[in-house]
Amino acid sequence: MSLLRRQDPLVCREVVELVTDYLEGSLSRADRRRFEAHLADCPHCTEYLAQMRATIRLTGRLEPEDLSAAMREDLGELYRRWRDQR
Ligand SMILES: [Zn+2]
Repeated sequence: MSLLRRQDPLVCREVVELVTDYLEGSLSRADRRRFEAHLADCPHCTEYLAQMRATIRLTGRLEPEDLSAAMREDLGELYRRWRDQR
C-alpha cells in the first residue's frame, strides 16, 4: 500500500486503517513509531484504539471481517462527533 508516505505524520484516518495491523503486531517498527506518536497526541485515536482492544477482549480474537462492519459504524459516529467539536 502506498498509504504511508515516509515523512508525513499520520492522520486519524490512516491510524484507523492501520489499527488492526498495529494490534496484530504486523506494522514495521517505523510505522509503529509513527502510529504511537499520533496516539500520544490524539485523544480520539487513543479512544478508538481502546474500543478496538475492548472489542477484541470481548470476542477473544481479532476478526477483521467482523470488525470492519462494526468499525464502519463506530467510525461514522466518531467522525460525526469530531466534526461537531470543531
Ligand atoms: Zn487521531
